[in-house]
Amino acid sequence: MYIVALTGGIGSGKTTIANRFAALGIDIIDADLVARQVVEPGSLALSAIAAHFGSDILDEKRELNRRALRERIFANPDEKAWLNALLHPLIREEMMRQCQQATSPYCLLVVPLLVENRLSGLGQRVLVIDVDEAVQIERTCQRDQISQQQAEAILASQANRDERLAVADDVIVNQDRSEAELEHEILTLHQQYLTFATQQAH
Ligand code: ATP
Repeated sequence: MYIVALTGGIGSGKTTIANRFAALGIDIIDADLVARQVVEPGSLALSAIAAHFGSDILDEKRELNRRALRERIFANPDEKAWLNALLHPLIREEMMRQCQQATSPYCLLVVPLLVENRLSGLGQRVLVIDVDEAVQIERTCQRDQISQQQAEAILASQANRDERLAVADDVIVNQDRSEAELEHEILTLHQQYLTFATQQAH
């Protein structure tokens, strides 16, 4: 399977752009979704987490209480490292499994923290959605109803624009563009990826 890994900072437009590839018939695999699937009730990972942190890390439906988990690891780097060592390989494996099951000519793997988690080699190509930080903050505040300060804190915790662009094979600038320009760029990339996928298959 030819995998295009798509990334970008918070509020850059990853979901919005991925949806447009989906509308062209491309299968989308979303790392955030996979990260939830690997800790679904009944999973080995959830059992391991409950055994390690105690069963009060589960809610009344025996599902993972994400807020409680976040609080437990927030100020504790060792616990965070333990959790990452458990979950990262599982998430990576499950993402790859879903990519291999894709039925479109290539698939798009959306990984918000591609750079932070050093996953840029995961696919054959990296597509970065790029906007400037002021736009990221503005769109995130508007969408999530959070303060400018909160949005800035999230941005500061992520890789910066240059670090992302450094691993990019392709870049979509998702600001100050007309709808027609964006549409054209997405179609051009789509055609390129179809060609690359065919070449790889031969
Ligand atoms: P996150 O990392 O937080 O999940 P994201 O990168 O997936 O974010 P989106 O949710 O796709 O980003 O977009 C963020 C917000 O910006 C949304 O409200 C979306 O509607 C808006 N948006 C996306 N692209 C554009 C655009 N070209 N012009 C104006 N608004 C846009």
